[in-house]
Amino acid sequence: MKITKLTTYRVPPRWMFLKVETDEGVVGWGEPVVEGRARTVEAAVSELSEFVIGKDPSRINDLWQAMYRGGFYRGGAVFMSAIAGIDQALWDIKGKVLGAPVFELLGGRVRDRMKTYCWVGGDRPADVIAQIRARMEHGFDTFKMNGCEEMSIIASSKAVDAAVARVAEIREAFGNTIEFGLDFHGRVSAPMAKVLVKELEPFRPLFIEEPVLAEQAEYYPRIAEQTSIPLAAGERMYSRYEFKHVLERGGISILQPDLSHAGGITECVKIAAMAEAYDVALAPHCPLGPIALAACLHVDFVSWNATLQEQSMGIHYNKGGEVLDYVLNKDALKLDDGGYAKPFTGPGLGIEVNEELVIERSREVADWRNPLWRHADGSVAEW
Ligand SMILES: [Mg+2]
Repeated sequence: MKITKLTTYRVPPRWMFLKVETDEGVVGWGEPVVEGRARTVEAAVSELSEFVIGKDPSRINDLWQAMYRGGFYRGGAVFMSAIAGIDQALWDIKGKVLGAPVFELLGGRVRDRMKTYCWVGGDRPADVIAQIRARMEHGFDTFKMNGCEEMSIIASSKAVDAAVARVAEIREAFGNTIEFGLDFHGRVSAPMAKVLVKELEPFRPLFIEEPVLAEQAEYYPRIAEQTSIPLAAGERMYSRYEFKHVLERGGISILQPDLSHAGGITECVKIAAMAEAYDVALAPHCPLGPIALAACLHVDFVSWNATLQEQSMGIHYNKGGEVLDYVLNKDALKLDDGGYAKPFTGPGLGIEVNEELVIERSREVADWRNPLWRHADGSVAEW
């Protein structure tokens, strides 16, 4: 069998799907994208296709190494997301050829179902309690929300009070009937992270995500020493070679590689195993579409330390397209009470992509961009 063609489709809300075709008619799907930089990743997929067209799709490990090492320059969001999407599609093809779900090919499941959580709130935290109530009616009990709005490198006590008061209100409203993680989203500087984690500790968030930016990772162990709240990070780290530094330094309790940013299934299974060796939990990042989510779940089902799976159903970014829109066998991604995902029964990634709809929606798709925020003094703020 040989790979014959790679086709990318940019689709709403802000995703890109990849179709990999073979000379025997077996087709695989992947989701290579960097949110807001879909066209850049599209160009990278096009260039990387030189390494895979005409090749045997069963040799995923070799094709991965060729794409990673074959171009001299490597790593980073764009290359690793392009590799990730191609890798997912190759696993989809392998599973379809062998008639088995990907998790079976990875050694079989370690769990019967996988806990997911859902997002609440937009970028500007408001009405969070009402949103949590609405999602609880759909069976969810675990949530994530942004921890604060934009925050200066040294912020006012007013800004700190606003962040803390919101969390206090949520805990007061729900007691311990819900769990919630707080995403600092890289908005908080090292000096303020120290202040905020201390103030938020009494409300026992499940974790604090990106307490500082990934490029300030040397602060993770220092912040961790000052709090009992588990720290999470990883959505802006792209390979084993970045995660190894974080694991060696310590401080992170939950690793969050993104299956569409960190080299795909092949790489993230290895990252998960590295985390397990350090007694670090896995919670793959996934504010993306159905193919990325399916890839995450296959890794979760074979990784003992996988503890929570992010998913973007109903997330505030999903304007013009929802996770299940593009899937024909919607039941495969339907979450049970408590937000549990079940193992896939179909071969490959286990989801059937609605190609007709993908093509239709890819015809007129707006380029998604995250907002550019500014502080009160006009300087750029982290979003
Ligand atoms: Mg995040």
